[in-house]
Amino acid sequence: MATDNKDALFRFLFEELGIRGEIVSLDSSFKDTLSLHDYPNIVAEQLGQALAASTLLSATLKFDGSLILQVQGDGPIPMLVAQSTNQQTVRGIAHWNGDIQGNTLPELFGKGRLVITLKPNKGKPYQGIVNLEGDSLSDALESYFSQSEQLKTRLWFAVNNKRSIGLLLQELPAKLEELADWERVEMLANTITQDELLSLPSEEIIYRLFHEEAIRLYEPQPISFKCECSREKVEKSLLTLGAAELTDLLEEKGIIEADCDFCNQHYRFNEKDIDEILNPDKPSPIIH
Ligand SMILES: [Zn+2]
Repeated sequence: MATDNKDALFRFLFEELGIRGEIVSLDSSFKDTLSLHDYPNIVAEQLGQALAASTLLSATLKFDGSLILQVQGDGPIPMLVAQSTNQQTVRGIAHWNGDIQGNTLPELFGKGRLVITLKPNKGKPYQGIVNLEGDSLSDALESYFSQSEQLKTRLWFAVNNKRSIGLLLQELPAKLEELADWERVEMLANTITQDELLSLPSEEIIYRLFHEEAIRLYEPQPISFKCECSREKVEKSLLTLGAAELTDLLEEKGIIEADCDFCNQHYRFNEKDIDEILNPDKPSPIIH
């Protein structure tokens, strides 16, 4: 487990104002995610922001499960997914096409939407969807919060090829007393530079920005890269194809293969495996 807080999320509270904050630093967990695909820098940057965002948004999950942030569009990056669990594990993936010009949200993702899914391990998922708006992922997320949660929320991201940092400020539901307090805290946060976010320890960033405010800082939560895929989950998704399709695939190729996009884990199923998936209750043959 990392003890230097390079992969960690800090939560903090402005005790007298009705505002909460979080800062997340992703280091090894970001590098592990990037190492699986040969991402262009601009795609890696967007993925870093999305990973940081998903950990910031999942920090207050009240259930066992995960939060999935998806951006879907008709631009050069048609699909980006970042997922974070309540156990503070993250994974993410992006697809891209060709050479990418520009760095604004419309230039990267085209016309699209932002989908946030809260997915409990048990029970029904909840999904919130907004159109992609603004110049950056932080703009889109801020508009998501103002539309779906009606909570004042601001996000700042800084990403290089080694680290991804995210900072979040959010009013507490029905607790914000004075708009002037929000504006002051927001203005303080706006003074941080990308270089400072990337180079300073999280506690120091919080201190530098808000040392004149009454802040309660909670114990940091360590974060790591971990894929949630398993042979069992792949079997379940194979089942949804139906027996006929699986039999056809087997006849065609002799074996059914599936790769996990998130971690490159390779799964193989031969005829016997597929038979067992399709007929889970069939007794094993008795050999005399
Ligand atoms: Zn996987």
